[in-house]
Amino acid sequence: MTLKFDNRYARLGDKFSVPLMPDPLPDPELVIVNKDALEEIGLDNISNQDLIEFFSGNRIPAGSEPLAMVYSGHQFGGYSPQLGDGRGLLIGQVISKSGSLVDLHLKGAGKTPFSRMGDGRAVLRSCIREFLASEALHHLGIPTTRALGVSTSVEPVRRETIEKASMLMRYSESHIRFGSFEYFFYTEQHNELKELCDYTIENHFPEAENAENKYDALLLLAAEKTASLIAQWQAFGFAHGVMNTDNMSIIGQTFDYGPYGFMEQYDPYYICNHSDDRGRYAFNRQPLIGHWNVQALAQALSPLTSKNVVKGALDTYQDRFLNRYHALMIEKLGLTENGPDDKALYDDLLDLMEGYGVDYTLFFRALSNFQSDDTMSSFTMSRSCADAFEPWLKRYKNRLLMEKSDDVKRKKSMRRVNPKYILRNYLAQIAIQQSEIGYHNDLHTLYNVLKRPYDEQPEYDDYAKEPPEWGRNLQISCSS
Ligand code: AMP
Ligand code: MG
Repeated sequence: MTLKFDNRYARLGDKFSVPLMPDPLPDPELVIVNKDALEEIGLDNISNQDLIEFFSGNRIPAGSEPLAMVYSGHQFGGYSPQLGDGRGLLIGQVISKSGSLVDLHLKGAGKTPFSRMGDGRAVLRSCIREFLASEALHHLGIPTTRALGVSTSVEPVRRETIEKASMLMRYSESHIRFGSFEYFFYTEQHNELKELCDYTIENHFPEAENAENKYDALLLLAAEKTASLIAQWQAFGFAHGVMNTDNMSIIGQTFDYGPYGFMEQYDPYYICNHSDDRGRYAFNRQPLIGHWNVQALAQALSPLTSKNVVKGALDTYQDRFLNRYHALMIEKLGLTENGPDDKALYDDLLDLMEGYGVDYTLFFRALSNFQSDDTMSSFTMSRSCADAFEPWLKRYKNRLLMEKSDDVKRKKSMRRVNPKYILRNYLAQIAIQQSEIGYHNDLHTLYNVLKRPYDEQPEYDDYAKEPPEWGRNLQISCSS
């Protein structure tokens, strides 16, 4: 294994992390690998055996300096003073083929000083869920941490039932969270807070360097990235499920997948996390929670920032969110010019979808194939539903006329933003059940389909359908 390491985070010193070796999985088996990414990371010439050993914590490449990062965070609104990597390790930072610095992070790598009551392990189900979701979001074009591979073992782990200890190797430009800054703020370690900010600016936001106050600039940039990310979640119908500040990436990537879900029938009140009984992280609250989280970040950076920047950051967040969401929804409708009633056009459509329980992804995909002389009956909808949508369709047709929309061009561009394939919960569930008994074919097929979400792939039409009765409203708990 010849990886080029440059472990900059480790060099920040012992206030920021604890050096620690992974606790290896016994008799590991490789479940799935992201082969496309191996080359980018510099792992293309690795043997299968070395890969298994690396992804299961049995062998650590020369040059790595594994460590557990410290952080804290607001969980469901309350402050938890000491979190940190309780079961994941930053194995090291490697220089990728393209020259960027990439964190390799092994999740499920055993107990750390931050494990609290936990066992330091991850189960196969949750590793597969994170693998699939991060790759699905990436191929949709949504910023996210990525997945390199999953390994599993016969080591028993107790959750609601006995499951198999497994590991996920993920990679990202950064594992710094809003909660990383909160930790140093609330422990009043302001020198370290400044060091962490300087590190973040140098490595992730070099454009902030020349600002009058670079910490103000850092906050504004993070607010912007976060808003932009959440606008994409809303436009694609993705619910994260646990938007605690320790799960918010400072570089605005989707981070730490737990009980997430893609919305199927449009329901703004959708709660994907079975344990979130108050719906704090319901789908339609995500934009607001992003705002709340930016405020928490602003508080953490307050020893370094100027007085009036908080309002500026919150305004930036709001403006960026509204603009990006609007632009995405307009794009989903295939409109290229701005019309005065466009917001009402998609808001009313969403109301109709909610009223009739229409599948969000399928509707927009069907609309992408719509010809201006079609009627509602060309959609796969019940008669009463089609009748109810008819007046809206009339408005839509008029709106297309207004900008002299060209059917062929519009359909092409709409199919590039309205996916045919999303990660439906029941599809993940089938793949997981098969993998748990040792058959990984379903998982591999699903992963391949999700790599091309905008392509027709007619041989996989079944993966684009609405879930069967048993697959609706599957309950996903927080345990992982
Ligand atoms: P999460 O809900 O996955 O974002 O985790 C919240 C915190 O709990 C983080 O500090 C995790 O490292 C920690 N944690 C979650 N599961 C475990 C586990 N099985 N063992 C130890 N720590 C864990
Ligand atoms: Mg987390």
